[in-house]
Amino acid sequence: RVKEKGKAHFQFYRSDMNSIINNVVELETYLRKAIERNELTLYYQPQVDLLTMKIKSYEALLRWKNQELGHISPADFIPLAEDTGLIIPIGNWVIETACKQIKEWATKGKTDFKIAINISPKQFQQHRLLLIIRTAIEKYRIDPKLLEIEITEGAMQDTKDTAPILSGLKELGVSISVDDFGTGYSSLNYLKQFPIDVLKIDKSFVKDVHSNEKDAAITTTIIHLGRSLGMEVIAEGVENAEQEKFLLNANCQKAQGFLYSKPLPAEEIEKKFMK
Ligand code: C2E
Ligand code: MG
Ligand code: MG
Ligand code: MG
Repeated sequence: RVKEKGKAHFQFYRSDMNSIINNVVELETYLRKAIERNELTLYYQPQVDLLTMKIKSYEALLRWKNQELGHISPADFIPLAEDTGLIIPIGNWVIETACKQIKEWATKGKTDFKIAINISPKQFQQHRLLLIIRTAIEKYRIDPKLLEIEITEGAMQDTKDTAPILSGLKELGVSISVDDFGTGYSSLNYLKQFPIDVLKIDKSFVKDVHSNEKDAAITTTIIHLGRSLGMEVIAEGVENAEQEKFLLNANCQKAQGFLYSKPLPAEEIEKKFMK
């Protein structure tokens, strides 16, 4: 009986919580306060070189934990942040926090890896992005080569400012990665026009790469395309040895996914991988 009651209460709490998460206006109110209330953190997920199995970089992934709502997934709040413009202050916080973390690791002599941060299309369209990134690099006096930005295909097509922003970033020494490659408006023209360093194969192609012929063909083609253009290719969402074997055979340089590690807080990354 007691058990039943507990369960019912739990269910009520869940649905109540979900209704807030689904109520865009209410969720926005919470998200607005998230930065000042210190509710945001960056987790880091290793990106592994498939030949040496060494970690070459980490992707910084945003995490939001609210007292009442618990953990809210980026899949739920990033689109809302985009729609409301909140992605600008949140994105600035991400840039600042990642650069600060790079500095902290550099102080401990840990500099043999990059940190990749996600930049959303809205952020990319603001003129100050370049200034904000340069300011953070200068503030923490970090080597810009340790910073990589991940943008999606959508970010590049929506703005005429793409070329100057990307070349500005390259001049700074920051590298550029195309996230979720193949899922956006795939005009191959921008691969020719823009100074792109890395292609990230979306995890939707990687998921069944070892068993689905079409996914295998698409993945192999992206790897060839990237490598022929002198870009590095990384597969995301690698969860098992079959996928890894396929990618290695197909000449993919890097992989990221639960097979290696889930995203972890900076302290745990340090303990586990930076001994
Ligand atoms: P993304 O940039 O494509 O990030 C990869 C997502 O795949 C992450 O989800 C990561 O936790 C997840 N992932 C990693 N390994 C595996 C795996 O082996 N299997 C599966 N199924 N998933 C895996 P997450 O952290 O929930 O982030 C979702 C999306 O939210 C990101 O996709 C990115 O678009 C956005 N996002 C996250 N952090 C930020 C941020 O700081 N700024 C911006 N603008 N967007 C962010
Ligand atoms: Mg990403
Ligand atoms: Mg991705
Ligand atoms: Mg993705």
